Amino acid sequence: MPSVASVKKDLEALGTTGQEEILNYLEEVIVLGSFATEVTNEVKENRFSKGKVCPHCGHEEVSRNGKFNGKQRYICKSCRKTFTDFTRSPRYNSKKDIKKWILYSKCMINGYSIRECAEIVGISVPTSFYWRHKFLDAIRVYMCIGNVGGVIEVDEAFFRESFQGNHKKSTTFIIPREPHKRGVKGSRSSKDEKRKRGISKEQVCVLCAIDRVGIIMTELICKGRMKHTDLERLFTGRIEDESILCTDSHKSYIRFAQNSGVELQQIKRGKHKEGIYHIQHINAFHSKLKEWMYSFHSVATKYLANYMYWFKWLQFFNTEKDTEKTKHLLVQSHTSHSDTKLKDFKIREAIYI
Ligand SMILES: [Zn+2]
Repeated sequence: MPSVASVKKDLEALGTTGQEEILNYLEEVIVLGSFATEVTNEVKENRFSKGKVCPHCGHEEVSRNGKFNGKQRYICKSCRKTFTDFTRSPRYNSKKDIKKWILYSKCMINGYSIRECAEIVGISVPTSFYWRHKFLDAIRVYMCIGNVGGVIEVDEAFFRESFQGNHKKSTTFIIPREPHKRGVKGSRSSKDEKRKRGISKEQVCVLCAIDRVGIIMTELICKGRMKHTDLERLFTGRIEDESILCTDSHKSYIRFAQNSGVELQQIKRGKHKEGIYHIQHINAFHSKLKEWMYSFHSVATKYLANYMYWFKWLQFFNTEKDTEKTKHLLVQSHTSHSDTKLKDFKIREAIYI
């Protein structure tokens, strides 16, 4: 067996790239290895903080119902269905080792593509795709739309509508228009391009809002130009009293502000500030979002909401260490109840508010 001293010597000789590889390896072995029990316990704690609740019907009277495959089972006294600590969570019914799930969570923190995740974790590409959306469906449920208040910066981001994945194996799906080729000029729509081209019905409008305590909203609100009714649908009941909206000079905000009695501060084009009000946070958020989305190439619109929530999640935990984020993502995605089923992927539709 080699001595620690000799291993250290070898490591010194290895060079920076090799040392970083070893560091990653050690992190996986030591830190992530301890997560299996921690995650399981934290999920149990979060899910059942007020005692056991049936994940099927919400009833609170449940009793133990033996063990199956080493896992405790419970039975609901109301609906008579059985469940485990992980029923209706991404990992439920998975035959794969929890270590693979931990590694997958880490890959998601790094923003890896479906193929990269598959390679690193050692699962097939379809499984990788399935897991991604299991995680994201659950995170979407966990995070919710959110409530903003105080000084709120608001702006729209546009993504070209994409039907990717809808027609591959389908004999009945007809794409509503000619497909766009990837990488065609203009596919990376910046704000300036948006103005030049005008906003067509082929573009999906995502409304983003950030307040000064860091609460973020990212919701698909419509296709093409946004109307004040779209804003009402999103903000009614989700905006605190006495709030101030900071926006660009889009007219729909004026109508919305008048109807809802919210104070509005519009920053004129070419200007960065109106007194203490600005839209610099939301602008920075949008550039980061666009760049991040670009790395995935074209995302099908039916999955766009999931990607928006993924990004929102990453921004929210921005300042934490990667290992902490890995654990949070696992725990939170397993705390909420969600049922992602492979057979529903084909019939899935874009989630607009
Ligand atoms: Zn029940």
